[in-house]
Amino acid sequence: MICEPVSSHCLLLSGGVDSTTLAVWIRDQYPRDIVKAYTFLYGQKHAVELQAAQAVAKAFALEHFLIELPPITGSALTDIDKPLPMNRDLNSTSLANRVAPSYVPARNLLFMANMASLQDAIGPATLWLGVHHDDHSGYPDCRAEFISAADEAVRLGTKYSLRVKAPFANWNKADIIKWGMAHKVPYELTHSCYAGKIPACGVCDTCQARRQAFAEAGFEDPISYEFKG
Ligand SMILES: [Zn+2]
Repeated sequence: MICEPVSSHCLLLSGGVDSTTLAVWIRDQYPRDIVKAYTFLYGQKHAVELQAAQAVAKAFALEHFLIELPPITGSALTDIDKPLPMNRDLNSTSLANRVAPSYVPARNLLFMANMASLQDAIGPATLWLGVHHDDHSGYPDCRAEFISAADEAVRLGTKYSLRVKAPFANWNKADIIKWGMAHKVPYELTHSCYAGKIPACGVCDTCQARRQAFAEAGFEDPISYEFKG
């Protein structure tokens, strides 16, 4: 019997819907392989998502690395004097092609560079990001073009020719949830609320996007909300 060599996978795990679904996606595609999870602290106003990431990593027995970066500024997720937008109409055409207040400057670039550096000291691997198409206009570092350029940069810039993949880059969030529900993703463990609330606030951009995506996918969101109007 010929056994395929076991490969390594490094997952950027925030503890939200997308990266948690990606954890299950990798396990589904590569059941025998090693999957490590990386969660970053970068000066977020709250660390609730860290608890969700820890719960997800534990549920899937992933080796979990917590990495603290120097604080990133210039975002409503990090700067005390920048309030989070609430109750915005996310479908408004005035928001199309505008960078979101919750965009954190070049966050994914920093995360990927850190993961690449840590992994290139060990051996070959694929680095995985759960970015998706709904994010591509509000978040420049979630665009499919960015992922493909990052893949090339990481491949050329590392000893082990590491790769970067983001299989949901052209999916919308409802597609991710449909796939996730069919594959028993434990969405009850995830956290999305930018305000860091439990129950989730229901009205920040990401709570709204999550609620809309669950509704569009035709499933009940298992987490609770303060406001569901
Ligand atoms: Zn919220």
